[in-house]
Amino acid sequence: MNSMPAAETALRREVIETALEMERLGINQGTSGNISARWQDGLLITPSGVPYAELKAQDIVWLPLDVSDDAVVFEQSRPSTEWRFHRDILRSRPEINAVVHTHSNAATALAIHSRGIPAHHYMVAVAGGNSIRCAPYATFGSQALSAHAITALKDRTACLLAHHGVIAIGHDLARALWLANEVEVLAQQYLLACQLGAPPVLSDEAINEVIEKFKGYGLRSKA
Ligand code: 13P
Ligand code: ZN
Repeated sequence: MNSMPAAETALRREVIETALEMERLGINQGTSGNISARWQDGLLITPSGVPYAELKAQDIVWLPLDVSDDAVVFEQSRPSTEWRFHRDILRSRPEINAVVHTHSNAATALAIHSRGIPAHHYMVAVAGGNSIRCAPYATFGSQALSAHAITALKDRTACLLAHHGVIAIGHDLARALWLANEVEVLAQQYLLACQLGAPPVLSDEAINEVIEKFKGYGLRSKA
């Protein structure tokens, strides 16, 4: 019996496609990283520790947004260990419908030093401000990590996680994935620029002008 609405099956497939695309882009490997999308009053999230190539639509886990912090035992499913930050982001940011988490190399190299990405390039503004912050370290999957991520994402759509990786969020999966890749490119450019000394950064005024200009710019759907 398959009583799942077609729209839900389509979104589950989109979560899997996004995970596979994350690998094709080279911003994730193996079973690291995870993805979620808002669905009704909950979220659809990749299961923990399953290689993306093996995922089927029914393997994507649905969790209610009000799932409690201590709901650590899931009887039939094993959502990503990072379900807390996925839940908390989707709960606290109504304009956001998708969350992409990666361990992409250059961004993680900066995060190992607890360094965010400053305004070395105008494209930093695509994440909403004059920097992409780095959240302090906390154990993967913990409520503390979620709290740090929520703070680092204030007025932003991306952040780094110290000694860990990246979170990118967006109105839909395509936008969140695009941003996760953009963060990696910005981190690579920043690391290259650092080889010539501390890179100069753009003023707040210059970044604010870019933010204004970005209204209506970015990844566009074909529709
Ligand atoms: P999951 O396989 O549980 O999603 O964990 C991967 C990860 O990136 C943890 O931070
Ligand atoms: Zn991770």
